Amino acid sequence: MASNSKTCIYLLILLTALLLLLQGCSFTGSGQEGNAPIQTTADDNKGNIDIRERKTDVKVRTDTASNIPSGNTGSPGTNGTDKPKDENPKGQTTPAPALTPSPIPTGAANAAKPKKTVPILYYHSINDNITGIEELFVSPSEFEKQMNFLKKNNYNIITFDQLDKAASIENPVIITLDDGYEDNYFNAYPILKKNNFKATIFLCSDFIDKPSILKTTQIKEMTDLINFQGHSISHPDLRTLSRDEIEKELFVSKEIIEGITGQKVDVFAYPTGYYNNTVLEITRKYYKYAVLNGGGLYTEGDGNYETRRVYIPRNLDIQGFEKKIKGLK
Ligand SMILES: [Zn+2]
Repeated sequence: MASNSKTCIYLLILLTALLLLLQGCSFTGSGQEGNAPIQTTADDNKGNIDIRERKTDVKVRTDTASNIPSGNTGSPGTNGTDKPKDENPKGQTTPAPALTPSPIPTGAANAAKPKKTVPILYYHSINDNITGIEELFVSPSEFEKQMNFLKKNNYNIITFDQLDKAASIENPVIITLDDGYEDNYFNAYPILKKNNFKATIFLCSDFIDKPSILKTTQIKEMTDLINFQGHSISHPDLRTLSRDEIEKELFVSKEIIEGITGQKVDVFAYPTGYYNNTVLEITRKYYKYAVLNGGGLYTEGDGNYETRRVYIPRNLDIQGFEKKIKGLK
């Protein structure tokens, strides 16, 4: 009997142990599948929490990321900053931090502070007599329509000396024309005058008085409305020049233009939009701003030496023009 009861006890202990073992197994088993939604606080389940955080992360990031391009292509002016961001190399790096866990504050900060944007319109020739690359020749009738559009829609035409105050100006726009074509005097200037619009013309000092380029007398006459600024001496690719040559292109042209107009020359347009670090460094020495060949809306915080502009080519209808100045295209 005694041995029987002992066996019984052993059997009981064995059974209990087996039961406990089995329970343990099934617990961990179900845990693996069902834990994530249930265990909200479990420290021992970091993997799941991580995954969930990542999911949230990705979701937020995706929203943020998709907001940037969609603002460009479609979603109308929630803020004009969308477009520049897309074109800004810094903006393009924003998806990269998706792996780091701080998307919400960044997004919130961006949403809270929409940056002021300014369309800096960028023209060349205003002429129907096309003697070069067609898109550089905007029809005078189209130019007039565009100026009328700005007038009718209460845009305020400003110049670069007001750019740092643009945040306090309603609907600011800057008008620029590159290379100093003589048709700027015959075709653009009368239209600007009619609207009392100021504009900036970027001149190459060596080109002045050459055929189809503005003459000294015309330049002097236009200074009531036109602000003349620097575009180098001879329109070279500045990246290919020595330091001394770059200095000369930037400084001598500035002196010559100031000599003709009596206006301060402190804005520079990189010839063909080309620059590198040396060019940037020297430009900083002589100029307050330097403009690019396009890139979209100027956006507060862009940096004075990579000032974006809105390129206006020939054959842009007024709807296209409106989209461009609103940063929608
Ligand atoms: Zn040019």
